[in-house]
Amino acid sequence: MTTCTRSAICSVALLALLFTILSVSHLAPAQSAAPQSKLSVHWEELTAADFREGIHRSQGTCLLPFGILEKHGPHLPLGTDLLDVRHAALHAAEQEYAVVFPEYYFGQIAEARHEPGTMAYSRDLQLALLQETTDEMARNGCKKVIIVNGHGGNESLLPYFAQTQLDKPHDYVVYIFDKRSPGTGGPPKKSSITNWHAGEDETSKMMIARPDTVHLDRANQESGADQHRQNLPEDVYTGIWWYARFPNHYSGDGSAATQELGKFQMDWWIDAVVKTIRSVKADDTSLKLQNEFYEKSKHPLDTQP
Ligand SMILES: [Zn+2]
Repeated sequence: MTTCTRSAICSVALLALLFTILSVSHLAPAQSAAPQSKLSVHWEELTAADFREGIHRSQGTCLLPFGILEKHGPHLPLGTDLLDVRHAALHAAEQEYAVVFPEYYFGQIAEARHEPGTMAYSRDLQLALLQETTDEMARNGCKKVIIVNGHGGNESLLPYFAQTQLDKPHDYVVYIFDKRSPGTGGPPKKSSITNWHAGEDETSKMMIARPDTVHLDRANQESGADQHRQNLPEDVYTGIWWYARFPNHYSGDGSAATQELGKFQMDWWIDAVVKTIRSVKADDTSLKLQNEFYEKSKHPLDTQP
């Protein structure tokens, strides 16, 4: 009874304090930014004034976590790459401040068009939308845009996008970070088959990012084994290679996943993004070189060896 009375008094006192804080913040000037410690890393959660403060605090460094909507074996959600990459990027930005762009999933995924729930935008639109997105981010002060890639199917698109930033002058730099797991270390793996999509690694990470969406009991309903249905030398490439090898859009054995492996890999991923943000903030060379390059490219015959 005594405890109950005390906690009731405490609650009243707390409410009064909260009311005072809310009243004071209500009276504050409309354009003032939140106190330093309270600034969200989510672009969409910031007020206009807080956004200005966020760009200042991040030194113009913004993250664009890039996911996709595609089948992930029989047991993981369509948005696995988006959910995982946002988990990593948001936690990293909280450690090393950067403004994080909202959900973005407009990448290359033609190879999963035969599966339910895939959103496969056309080639031209993928590039145009990404260009307008980074242009608009830069117009709003993100002079260093780090694309954190969460989807294997973007591995050719993103370097190509970065290369084509040289076709005309931009007042910002696009950086790409495209690694989701460490090469070595961590708890030993249980599965021995190729583990590229919805397999042991990715399922383990989802057990950390969104365990409520993982249906481990369904992981063996389909085979994630390599079916080797194409007979070509390794260095001859075709667009159908993925479907030839993994027609169920599943590569690996998700049932082997563990939270322990997921925690190891997710912690590594977050830390790797933190290090990327720090090195990008410290980079004052890339934009200078880009500008030098754009200038020289206007009159190539004057460029000396
Ligand atoms: Zn994935």
